[in-house]
Amino acid sequence: MDRRLFVLAIPFLLFTAVATGADFAWKAGAAKVAITPEQPMWMAGYAARTRPADGKLTELWAKSLVLEDQQGNRGVVVTLDLVGIDRTLSQAICDSLKEQYSLPREQIVICTSHTHSGPVVGQNLAPLHYRLLAEPQQRAVDAWVSTFQKQVVALVGEAIGRLAPSELRWGSGTATFAVNRRDNSAASVPQLRTEGKLQGFSDHDVPVLAVRDADENLIAVLFGYACHATTLSGFQWSGDYPGYAQIELEKEHPGCVALFFAGCGADQNPLPRKTVQLAKHYGQRLATAVDSVLMTSQMHPVQGTLRTTYAEIDLPFDTLPTREEIELNSKSANRYEVARATMLREQIEGGVPLSQTYPYPISAWSIGDDLKWVALGGEVVVDYAIRLKSELAGTGTWVAGYANDVMAYIPSRRVLREGGYEGGGAMVYYGLPAAWAPALERDIVQEVHRQIDLASDQRVIADETLIASISKETLWRNRDGKSQTWFHPRACMMPGVDGKPVALMTLQQIGGSDYFGQVHWSTSSDLGQTWSDPKPIAALGRAPVPGHDDDLKAAVCDVVPQYDPIAKSLLAMGHVVFYKGDYFARKEQLSRYPVYVTRDQDGTWSERKILQWDDPRGSNIYSNGCGQRVVLPNGDVLLSFTFGPKEINRMVSGVHASFDGERLKVKEVGPALRNDKGRGLLEPSVTEFDGKFWITMRAEDNRGYVSVSDDGLNYEAKQAWAWDDGTPIEMSTTQQHWLTHSDGLFLVYTRQDQSNEKVMRWRSPLWVAQVDTDKRCLIKSTEQLVLPLVGDGIDAPNKVALMGNFHVTHASPQESWVTVGEWMPQDGYRGDVLLARIRWSKPNRLPLW
Ligand SMILES: [Zn+2]
Repeated sequence: MDRRLFVLAIPFLLFTAVATGADFAWKAGAAKVAITPEQPMWMAGYAARTRPADGKLTELWAKSLVLEDQQGNRGVVVTLDLVGIDRTLSQAICDSLKEQYSLPREQIVICTSHTHSGPVVGQNLAPLHYRLLAEPQQRAVDAWVSTFQKQVVALVGEAIGRLAPSELRWGSGTATFAVNRRDNSAASVPQLRTEGKLQGFSDHDVPVLAVRDADENLIAVLFGYACHATTLSGFQWSGDYPGYAQIELEKEHPGCVALFFAGCGADQNPLPRKTVQLAKHYGQRLATAVDSVLMTSQMHPVQGTLRTTYAEIDLPFDTLPTREEIELNSKSANRYEVARATMLREQIEGGVPLSQTYPYPISAWSIGDDLKWVALGGEVVVDYAIRLKSELAGTGTWVAGYANDVMAYIPSRRVLREGGYEGGGAMVYYGLPAAWAPALERDIVQEVHRQIDLASDQRVIADETLIASISKETLWRNRDGKSQTWFHPRACMMPGVDGKPVALMTLQQIGGSDYFGQVHWSTSSDLGQTWSDPKPIAALGRAPVPGHDDDLKAAVCDVVPQYDPIAKSLLAMGHVVFYKGDYFARKEQLSRYPVYVTRDQDGTWSERKILQWDDPRGSNIYSNGCGQRVVLPNGDVLLSFTFGPKEINRMVSGVHASFDGERLKVKEVGPALRNDKGRGLLEPSVTEFDGKFWITMRAEDNRGYVSVSDDGLNYEAKQAWAWDDGTPIEMSTTQQHWLTHSDGLFLVYTRQDQSNEKVMRWRSPLWVAQVDTDKRCLIKSTEQLVLPLVGDGIDAPNKVALMGNFHVTHASPQESWVTVGEWMPQDGYRGDVLLARIRWSKPNRLPLW
């Protein structure tokens, strides 16, 4: 090289490096670990094998790719050279990832390649494998699973550790070896292919995501294909064609981690098959398709943000078998039928009745502006990929199957109707009790659209408002009825022993409408990642009512905790409710009043106390249940009462109370706001914003109401909540609460929309919108979901968990929480405790307490 040119070239290169460096909007990191069993072990996927594996054609790999956008939103992809993964193992891995790396569920997608030359993966396909294995073989499976689980968790940590500025590009190629196996007999495929007469649907797209580091080295490539990994059926470990494709790509691009995800290939086979040569051949063809995209096409830069969503929908089964049918099947000549029947019988005898639905996992990621990645559980037939690509963004829509939980085949409505193996015959091998109900395709596609809308809307809104993102976590599970339903989960922050913020939550069990158990408390020292086991607050159980020897008991509900930094004491206040035996004493409710306990700096809870208010206007009830309160600079508490001498036409007033750390005393009650419909104004919540006190109220005339006051006592005339264009908001007798940021005021609420028409009081989903504080209305363009409706609010409203009782917590300058206890009043009062993390784009400067 000419010396002069060389000198000139240096500043130029430096300049471009700096210029492109600034463009690295993403960070990425990738890692891999071999998971091939070292001991002889049984292999998964076929019924015909008669002995464990006895050799190895290729290693089996677990790989991980971590993506992070400029705002710090993360997504973790795990790909596994395995036949599948069951719900329990998948959840255990996600729980560990959450614990170790604070990864919420929606930031994780676990993909499997569906190789039929890998090990039995725990209880996946249990009646086909695990249930039929001898005990030493079962123990070998358990041991491998336990090692594997730790490997995956460590693997993700390694990938996170490698996060570095990266450039992402995507494209789409083609490979044509997948053949619709329902419509073409294996033997006839070579001839039909030659004649161009192959029948049926296939998806031959090869989606490709290329990740390059600052030096333009390919550090990872994520690719997919919709076809069974069933070229091989021998006794040697192998990744089958996906394994060979990954090996080929990693050989071609040294330093690159190649990750494969299976698409909707449940009804697709690589045909012809059965030889190692063919497995390598298909692997090479797939690798070549990826390389063609990488090397010969103009790949699209991934620009924008990463949005991740995850939800489980209750996917309905067809008619469940009766006890007699199960009994009959347990004596079948078919050993898989016997294994399934035994499983189901054990479940029922263990006290868990067969469920009419399965918690089916769906996740949707919006990777930049153009790429939508949908990940579906189970063995998904190709119809889903074809339909979703046409309804969404064409080749910019990637649909993974075999993701997160491979619980069964997922036929389309068409395949379900046609029947056969994928249509329902294979259910026995997965141990599920019945075929799917015809609603499955509609339910799945609806949920995908909802999540895609959510992932896309969030991006638009994030650009305009303080809310950067909202994610959903489950703190306690009981949608399946196997545990207990916690209700009224409400948290506040308080200083821990070292002065660092600790969250304290109060919560109580629910066993019926307005029928609540003992109030408990739980704490979290890691910003809500983990919570201590709930412990009872002794004074907030059921107590006999003095003067009543007829089993009338006074319990407490609707508790809200709040820390008072002046009094250095936590005040947890709810109100009294009367029970007779195991029921709400509907006819014997004595007058109701607020009760509270305090918690001192040593963590000792006080006895039960009553907030006294001797005013005839509160002779039937006065209450602050479920209400947000404001601690004033002198330690006094600004709250509100709903009250009335009768059950109907209750009023609301601002209340000023003193608090010395032990006793709360009413100092002054302001003039009443009224709404003479039904029970009147209920469950008021107060916040302070921009020097004024704001109150929001539940009502019984399909509205919610807002008012403002300078002193928290004298409120202006109330206004019904409306949109900024003046349209009233349809609410139905459900509480609303404030989400307050130093730079903006928001309201969290329920309202009517198309998805929840039949849901009781439209109590799902939960929404948030910013308040226009001049006009005292909600800004429609800022509305977004806090917690989505799960299920079908039109055709199966009783299976939709209600979310009307919730609370908002200012948890840190970076985030606020909405906590809610779900419940299904028509379905055994089951439900999860959910936490929505609302992350701010600007720090919230309000004090934590
Ligand atoms: Zn399969």
